[in-house]
Amino acid sequence: MFLSLEIGSMKTENRSAATYNTFIEQVESNQVQRIIIKPELPQGRTASHRIEYTVKSGFDTQHYYTYFTGSIEELTNLLHSHGVNFNIPKNSESAAGILGLLLSTGVLMGLFAWLLKFTNTGGGSIGVGMGVGKSNARVYNRGKTGTTFADVAGVDEAKQELQEVVDFLANGEKYRKIGAKIPKGVLLVGPPGTGKTLLAKAVAGEAGVPFLNMSGSEFVEVFVGVGASRVRDLFNKAKRQAPCIIFIDELDAIGKTRSAGMPNGGNDEREQTLNQLLTEMDGFNGNDGVIVIAATNRPEILDPALRRPGRFDRQVLVDRPDKSGRLEILKVHARAIALGEDVNLETIAAQTAGFVGADLANLVNEAALMAARNNRQAVLMADFFEAIERVIAGLEKRSRILTPTERQTVAYHEVGHALVGALMPSGDQVTKISIVPRGLGALGYTLQMPSDDRFLMLEDELRGKLATLLGGRSAEEIIFGKVSTGASDDIQKATDLAERAVTQYGMSSVLGPIAFEKNAAQFLEGGSSRRAISVEVATEIDRQVKQSIDKAHDLALEILQLNRALLEYTTQLLLEKEVLEGEELQGILERVKAPDELNTWLMKG
Ligand code: ADP
Ligand code: MG
Ligand code: ZN
Repeated sequence: MFLSLEIGSMKTENRSAATYNTFIEQVESNQVQRIIIKPELPQGRTASHRIEYTVKSGFDTQHYYTYFTGSIEELTNLLHSHGVNFNIPKNSESAAGILGLLLSTGVLMGLFAWLLKFTNTGGGSIGVGMGVGKSNARVYNRGKTGTTFADVAGVDEAKQELQEVVDFLANGEKYRKIGAKIPKGVLLVGPPGTGKTLLAKAVAGEAGVPFLNMSGSEFVEVFVGVGASRVRDLFNKAKRQAPCIIFIDELDAIGKTRSAGMPNGGNDEREQTLNQLLTEMDGFNGNDGVIVIAATNRPEILDPALRRPGRFDRQVLVDRPDKSGRLEILKVHARAIALGEDVNLETIAAQTAGFVGADLANLVNEAALMAARNNRQAVLMADFFEAIERVIAGLEKRSRILTPTERQTVAYHEVGHALVGALMPSGDQVTKISIVPRGLGALGYTLQMPSDDRFLMLEDELRGKLATLLGGRSAEEIIFGKVSTGASDDIQKATDLAERAVTQYGMSSVLGPIAFEKNAAQFLEGGSSRRAISVEVATEIDRQVKQSIDKAHDLALEILQLNRALLEYTTQLLLEKEVLEGEELQGILERVKAPDELNTWLMKG
């Protein structure tokens, strides 16, 4: 979406008065170029809206104004069908003059939808308070989020901690009587899709209180000051509805460390918004019955001021589910579908290590779609297996046609991953190689199924993983003497992994077991012990990362050179069949020969 800013451009022009009917006619005959709607209090009248617009015929431009008298829906439809650009002034209470958002017709509908929503909550026709600065927090009525803890699974610890918040909201009196201080801010921290939004809604649902929800990115607008006034408005709304929950999603969008990394003192708008949020949080008392729940997947970039006592001083980790957690989540989502007799959710949970709740919800839905497409009454295990792959690699896209060279490159690349991966010491088994293009970007893939949940990776496994990641690129180098762009994702992953090995897992003998850099764990413990890195250390980290990647790369090349005949054979087979799996694939992988250096390298890096 592209938003451009116009300041006061129509202010000084001479305008003639027109009747509303004339205005409508001019719109209908496609003469109207641009409109500004201004809330205004003309003398002797009640609140009204002045419409300023421009009419163009030939080279002649004329400016008119009129007063809005019709129905907003009709006007919406009319303007939309005639593709008229539309300007809305900045909130009248916070600024004088015309500061308009010039919207392209594409966003016109969205804006009107928003206007209408505001109008509805405000009551009556468009009120004077209409403006950009009003918060568009969606208010769900008491207990109406319809979500309860029963809908959230696999995050028992988080639920337990939030149970307390439910009690504060539902039985506030009990705490107030005894004089206990109720916390005001809870921060949910966890990767995307783990159920943070869902949990916040469930807290509101369990307590039977309204849920006011807004996303951090919605606060940060093009106009300086709008975000701040939205925050103010949101809190005012909340105080009127207490007890209630304010949910701020993507807190990091406003809560980034102030002036961090920004050359010119940072983003003014975001800073103002953040300051307003801090002011609001300090200005009320948890005992007023408003509790703010915020969510982020990037706690390390949050401004430390947000975590001070009396603000978001409680943090709840919402982590990726383990196997039994995944089973529980699958059960929740399977309630809605008809399961075939052969379906074993436990097996599915076992094969979906790394999936978050959102992936599992998606998986169940994909499986159901698959069954429906095949005109089945119930979802079978085969549907789930197919769906797992879809979720992993995105939707199948057989229509994407590759050139023969592209296809060959992809095939060698994937076989490279598989052959190197087959030698590496981890329980992860290569179970499938495919060159059927899937989803966005993935031209082929190699599937490695973890044998079980792993939370710990041993040093040698980590090195093995690095070599496997680099196997694809190495195969391209050996065969073509050059690399394609297809390995960029692998290289990114390898670099991240190598860097974490040094900075977080303390696996470097030179740097030792010291945690460098921002990391989530430190933050969650509430420490402000972010370790500043000296230039020397940063250089050493880079050196170590480069060294381990280089070594892994060398080893991958070594393995593929040693197994070149097998690489050729397997690639030809893959080009022919498009997919290799099962016994046929295992038979091939058993034949991969290990170079002498393998074990030494795995042990010493
Ligand atoms: P987040 O806010 O952490 O990014 P969401 O709460 O938006 O994640 O999750 C998106 C969807 O995924 C939910 O609406 C729900 O259908 C499903 N989901 C995610 N986590 C869980 C969970 N723990 N239990 C059940 N369903 C979940
Ligand atoms: Mg969310
Ligand atoms: Zn790859």
